[in-house]
Amino acid sequence: MLRIGLTGGIGAGKSTVSAVFSECGGVIVDGDVIAREVVEPGTEGLQRLVEAFGEDILLPDGALNRPALAAKAFRDDDSRARLNGIVHPLVGKRREEIIASVRAHPEKDSVVVEDIPLLVETGMAPTFPLVVVVTAPAETRVARLIKRGMDEADARARIAAQATEEERRAIADVLLDNSGPQGELVEKARDLWYHRVLPLAHNIRTRECGKAIHELTPYKTSWAEDAARIIKRIEMACGTTALRVDHIGSTAVPEMDAKDVIDVQVTVASLDDADVLVKPLTQVGFPRREDVTADTAHTEDPGMWRKRFHCAADPGRPANVHIRVEGWPNQQFALLFTAWLRANPGVREDYLHTKRHAVTTADYVQAKEPWFLDAYHRAWQWADTTGWRA
Ligand code: ADP
Repeated sequence: MLRIGLTGGIGAGKSTVSAVFSECGGVIVDGDVIAREVVEPGTEGLQRLVEAFGEDILLPDGALNRPALAAKAFRDDDSRARLNGIVHPLVGKRREEIIASVRAHPEKDSVVVEDIPLLVETGMAPTFPLVVVVTAPAETRVARLIKRGMDEADARARIAAQATEEERRAIADVLLDNSGPQGELVEKARDLWYHRVLPLAHNIRTRECGKAIHELTPYKTSWAEDAARIIKRIEMACGTTALRVDHIGSTAVPEMDAKDVIDVQVTVASLDDADVLVKPLTQVGFPRREDVTADTAHTEDPGMWRKRFHCAADPGRPANVHIRVEGWPNQQFALLFTAWLRANPGVREDYLHTKRHAVTTADYVQAKEPWFLDAYHRAWQWADTTGWRA
């Protein structure tokens, strides 16, 4: 099962995307909808609200009179806490029930879409393997909200009270631009579902990597942003088992062409600790590749070049996660290598030349090895003379 996060500022078009995902087979978990469900007539929730706030919060037909409840529940902090104390646990329980019912079918590539208006504000974005953000310019959103019947001042106040577009952009693995016609958004959402969300769900279930990359791309400034998101996700999944998580490799070196694959290193205390991370990393979209168990050794003890290796299941953002042991030469060299390249334009040129040749060969990694053997010593010489430390 794959859980994805869907968010967007008010009026951006999140409901449109949610409807498309639902139509495509996604199971939508929408906090607002659930909050209404748990207090429908005949529910335990409504009964408890009546016990707490009195019969006069009901309409003549027995349904909840929301304004009447609001008048009582938002009167003071105690009342508000009492309301939340009743509704929040019921919403949580219902949410878990929905997810459990999907989880009961592990043989399917099921997708649960968690529709969370305040995904930025709650800080939960990194717990999802994929976060989709719907976006539109503020003025467009205001116009749409007015058309929907909202008062202009109210629309502006609500937009101002939410996270900024920039904050939402920072958590987005996918940014769906809804500045054009609605039909365009529907097309984009469908395309995303079939070409990225479903393959991701499949790959997580079968523990496969998303996409192999074979060619070099000119440096992209988005690599640093992508790495930052991946690192947050990994840090949250690994907890204190990860001693540090770093963006390493060529995409961490500004102004250098690279394969469009983000490399991240998770430093752990031992390989046993690395093994504890298999499940949490798979759940956030990084299954382990059992066939990769070591780097090519550049010192005489190959045992000190062992590692664990995970890859991104997401076909839309290739990434490799190398889990290495603190203080081992492979862990140290990964950190040194990026620092050395960043500091030395000449070395960048030199390395790029090697890479350009390597991509034309059958075994890219092997073709770079002779250069790396020499680079290992040159980089440490540089570290000695500059006093560099990990
Ligand atoms: P959200 O759920 O993000 O608050 P909605 O999906 O409800 O936003 O969209 C807000 C309003 O704007 C709705 O009335 C919707 O029908 C309308 N809308 C959404 N996308 C477009 C679009 N691309 N062009 C015109 N109107 C749109």
